[in-house]
Amino acid sequence: MVMAAFFCSGVIGCTANEIAELPGDPVRRIEMRGVYGGIPGENTAGAALSDFGANAVFIGSGGFTKERVEWVKSQGARIFAEFNTMHNARYLEEHPDAAPVGADGEVCPPPHDWQGICPTHPEYRAERMNSFRELVRNFDLDGVWLDYHHSHASWEREDPAMPDTCFCERCLERFSSDTGTELPDLPAATLAPAILEDHGEEWAQWRCDVFTDWVREFREILDEERPGALLGTFHNPWSDQDFDGDRIRKLAIDLKAQAEYLDVFSPMPYHARFGHADDPEWISRQVSWLGSYLGLEGKPGEAIKIWPIVQLSDWGTEVPASQVAEILEAGTRPPSTGVMFFAWGSLKEHTDRVGELSKFYKGLSQ
Ligand SMILES: [Zn+2]
Repeated sequence: MVMAAFFCSGVIGCTANEIAELPGDPVRRIEMRGVYGGIPGENTAGAALSDFGANAVFIGSGGFTKERVEWVKSQGARIFAEFNTMHNARYLEEHPDAAPVGADGEVCPPPHDWQGICPTHPEYRAERMNSFRELVRNFDLDGVWLDYHHSHASWEREDPAMPDTCFCERCLERFSSDTGTELPDLPAATLAPAILEDHGEEWAQWRCDVFTDWVREFREILDEERPGALLGTFHNPWSDQDFDGDRIRKLAIDLKAQAEYLDVFSPMPYHARFGHADDPEWISRQVSWLGSYLGLEGKPGEAIKIWPIVQLSDWGTEVPASQVAEILEAGTRPPSTGVMFFAWGSLKEHTDRVGELSKFYKGLSQ
């Protein structure tokens, strides 16, 4: 079920066409008012998601039960799963050969403890695909959002750490055969700097293609098991210019290529966390860039949607209640057609922020 609402900023009784002509008063068609990381009202007698103004919840794939799905659906809301693709660190305990290898030819330590996995490890990929298939087969969910779908890196901070990886034997062989780049029989520690220096663009594109191919396979499984369910991704919100193009060069996220397989992009413009605590407008600038990049305006009928996840919880830097409406307003401007926030688990204790959030969501739902 799609719940659509038109919200005319500052104008009562307007029509879409009239408002579209007014600069500064964009029409908002916000179909999704989401909660990430928990379910408000769950296990509370008489509580309803609509009391909160929400019409969708996103919870980790490990937290799914049939009862939860039924409760959310009984509210007339949608339920989406968050699925960890490349950050399943526990896998390494029994499969140390899946650890990413750095440009020095050694296993690359996890930057700030963010452990990634080698993207060409066949058994790891098969394990993730099987887990994804079980999830979508077993639960009547409305969609799945890929998470951590990027290389071994710590980017969710103001000063990211993104080591060059993975130079394991398998990745080097795959790069060579896939791109037709002949590599001499030399150790990884010698090859890696030469690849980065002499074949940097091919290397970056090849890594992107490997990650995109994972998305292709997730799409295939979702369409087989639960046709009609949405495939989304939580992703790094940088433009091609931010951090000198590192979203592509280091993180291996090719948004345009992935667009072939995705229904929804959910950039993560955590303004306070990423050094923009006093500038919530940064959120809408990043979302606006994404729309231009993908050719999306947030108009009805567009095949791909942009639903950012914005930061309302404290993570290193506090988010004041007085900023909540401004953050959500920035996150719901076109091309956005939906919004959610990070994250219910830690936000629910802050009743002042929850009150502001609820007020804003209810305003969108009228
Ligand atoms: Zn590798």
